[in-house]
Amino acid sequence: MTALVLDGAAMARDVFAELKPRVALLAKRGVTPGLATVIVGENAASRVYVRNKMKACAEVGLHAELHELAADAAESTVLAKVAALNASASVHGIIVQLPLPRGLDAQRILQSISIDKDVDGFNWTNLGAIVDGHPRLAPCTPLGVMSMLERAGIAIEGRHAVVIGRSSIVGKPLALMLIARGATVTVCNSKTPDLGTFTRSADILVAAAGRARLVTGDMVKPGAVVIDVGINRLPDGKLAGDVDYEAVREKAGVISPVPGGVGRMTVAMLVANTVFAAERL
Ligand code: NAP
Repeated sequence: MTALVLDGAAMARDVFAELKPRVALLAKRGVTPGLATVIVGENAASRVYVRNKMKACAEVGLHAELHELAADAAESTVLAKVAALNASASVHGIIVQLPLPRGLDAQRILQSISIDKDVDGFNWTNLGAIVDGHPRLAPCTPLGVMSMLERAGIAIEGRHAVVIGRSSIVGKPLALMLIARGATVTVCNSKTPDLGTFTRSADILVAAAGRARLVTGDMVKPGAVVIDVGINRLPDGKLAGDVDYEAVREKAGVISPVPGGVGRMTVAMLVANTVFAAERL
């Protein structure tokens, strides 16, 4: 069997097309949704991500602004920048690009973003709302995975979903979203003994560990849905997911590639969150 490949780029284009009429409605009210990105210091990968996010905003008609701070910026300077953006009427969404330079308290900075402008969904109040099953602004990557499953018409209720990774921005919120949709969920982490025992029983397997080719063909149940969140830079400079794509493609029923999968949908969900935030103001 060769798996159906989920096209994250095409799905993201669909999301953008759905957002455009909402942006047009906001324009009639004189509102242009605005996303502000704060970047501290130089990080080549961060620059690429930020460029992609700003391009996506432009595509849907959003206003996007970039605030660049020096690598040695004091924490008080970063906090003051976030405070100014919290107060800005033209900004509906704020992201602080991670990673931040050493010496800055990332949590303190992230938690200072207004919960109504927290389009990355990292604020503890917004994360807590997911626990309660009433999400407000939720993290973009789990949202992107859920949207991919829905758009591909994949049933979630009653199925066993296995999530590899328990981070606060991917694994845990995704597990909660899958639970809310009626899946039976297993969350694995680096201490999980014999990972394959769990992954082989997954109807839906999501890999978000940040370990290149962690999921091999023998770890996947025939016909399973395999979603690869991982982004890993190989020694030769190429990108690889957490899934051994070539081997797993022969075993799975559905697979998402890296690149061209979840990453595209993550950016699309950021734009969607910014539109949502503007609609609520
Ligand atoms: P993270 O904070 O480093 O968390 C990784 C998680 O994976 C941890 O819970 C860790 O377990 C677990 N893990 C690591 N090695 C494992 C192993 N061998 N077996 C089982 N579990 C293992 O990373 P993250 O922020 O969640 O991101 C995960 C990956 O997704 C990264 O590659 C990241 O670049 C990528 N990502 C992609 C997007 C996108 O748009 N596509 C967005 C965000 C992140 P412990 O908790 O026990 O350490």
